[in-house]
Amino acid sequence: MKLCFLGTCAGTEPMPDRKHTAFTLEHDGKLYWFDAGEGCSYTAHNLGLDLLRVEKIILSHPHIDHTGGLANLLWTIRNLHWLKKSEKMTDIQIFLPVSGIFEAVMGLLRCNEPNFSLGPYLHPHIIQDGVLFDNGSLCVTAFHNTHMAPSEEGWRSFSFRIDAQGKRIVYSGDVKHYEELNPAIGEGCDVLIIETGHFGIGDVYTYTKGKPIGKILFNHNGREILNAPAEAANKVKNLFGDKAVICYDGMTECL
Ligand SMILES: [Zn+2]
Repeated sequence: MKLCFLGTCAGTEPMPDRKHTAFTLEHDGKLYWFDAGEGCSYTAHNLGLDLLRVEKIILSHPHIDHTGGLANLLWTIRNLHWLKKSEKMTDIQIFLPVSGIFEAVMGLLRCNEPNFSLGPYLHPHIIQDGVLFDNGSLCVTAFHNTHMAPSEEGWRSFSFRIDAQGKRIVYSGDVKHYEELNPAIGEGCDVLIIETGHFGIGDVYTYTKGKPIGKILFNHNGREILNAPAEAANKVKNLFGDKAVICYDGMTECL
């Protein structure tokens, strides 16, 4: 099981070495795609990830730094399929916090090409609290947070717990308060992928101190880290030792 970070920046102006948020989890020959910030498919393909192995795409909330690369991701998958006609197209399930994202992205793709389609292979689902899917070896559970206020459709922002191979990974998405992650972490987790776009390194330390968390991966990085990366890395090292790492684009983590 391997994590690959495609974009590790919060929703800032463009940065030289960091794109907006996205990462993949590779498990059992499949790719599970979490968030789809700008350039995610470009980065993944050029890192050697096989986009024809994407099985699920899961979006935490509708903000552009988490969804801006979705149209390109779907278009690239379709193009790669055309280039490799011999490979059977696999079904892709896309889990959306609001239905409007799917309509907007498909609308854009059909402006580009009226017949754009991933055929019967693309299945949209609206995220609600609880288990999104459980294929026997990998289970993803959604927990709403209040980073965005709910709409008439329901909650619009989610954190996720991923259980696979006896390991538990928690992905914060964006949150209003770190305490909102308590239900997802539960009795503890092996890896916590935590956003720092709305918080500081010290906030992560205060929240995680004493909790049964194996490794902490700083993601969706904010100004404290972006403005002074070397100082931030030193601060993380001093506070956490080897327990925490500031993620960078292209970083992988094997579990
Ligand atoms: Zn964000």
